[in-house]
Amino acid sequence: LKITDLEKIYRTEDIETVALNKLSLEVKTGEFVAIMGPSGCGKSTLLNIIGMLDDAEKGSFMFNGEEIIHFNERRRADLRKRNIGFVFQSFNLIDELTVYENVELPLLYLGVDATERKQRVEAVLEKVQIMHRRNHFPQQLSGGQQQRCAVARAVVNNPKLILADEPTGNLDSTNGNEVMQLLTELNEAGTTVVMVTHSEHDARFAHRIIRLLDGKVVMENILG
Ligand code: ADP
Ligand code: ADP
Repeated sequence: LKITDLEKIYRTEDIETVALNKLSLEVKTGEFVAIMGPSGCGKSTLLNIIGMLDDAEKGSFMFNGEEIIHFNERRRADLRKRNIGFVFQSFNLIDELTVYENVELPLLYLGVDATERKQRVEAVLEKVQIMHRRNHFPQQLSGGQQQRCAVARAVVNNPKLILADEPTGNLDSTNGNEVMQLLTELNEAGTTVVMVTHSEHDARFAHRIIRLLDGKVVMENILG
């Protein structure tokens, strides 16, 4: 990812809010980066733009060597489905679907055939250790199990990039550490991870911390 002088302004009636103010940052393939900063500094806006859920006004956003800032919704959705997995604070599982069905969903959207879907869903459920809960519904699982299911859904299509927004925000420290360990393993297997967090503890799992203030990068810490 290479983002240069990115600008995002929200306009509501007569008020303009500058959410990203000529923000620049680069994330290399295989990196694990944490984004931190006070409430309102632009973290969610940035993650939504990186995740191709929202677009920016001005600036450049290179993804895999391609300028995507002016891609239309359809091309962004296509790139998103193939390359990006999302993990949210509130898990965002579908309550009416079982664990297995939740994890299978991205593959259905991609048109993967039934035999391959079964192999891939089972492999990833084993990896996050909730295979024994495959036929349960999200509400029957603990918070940690729900987030592991959400991580499984995020990675079942082998994305190049995982975007995690406060992935441990609703978890106790034991379950939180398990989810951070899982993200670390996925990163070590080659997936790039960009995580927004308020937790200095979680940020230490990353290679680098990018700190934002008022829609700009104000500091970077390299961990090692
Ligand atoms: P953070 O995730 O760091 O809390 P956000 O990216 O949510 O920050 O917000 C950055 C700024 O943009 C804030 O001032 C926020 O109030 C504003 N903002 C975010 N979303 C909207 C929106 N949909 N409409 C108007 N203003 C918004
Ligand atoms: P935690 O202490 O991690 O929040 P819970 O107390 O919610 O966990 O759950 C403890 C165990 O009981 C977990 O393995 C969870 O999956 C299981 N469990 C909780 N509620 C239900 C339910 N309604 N049906 C089946 N299993 C459940």
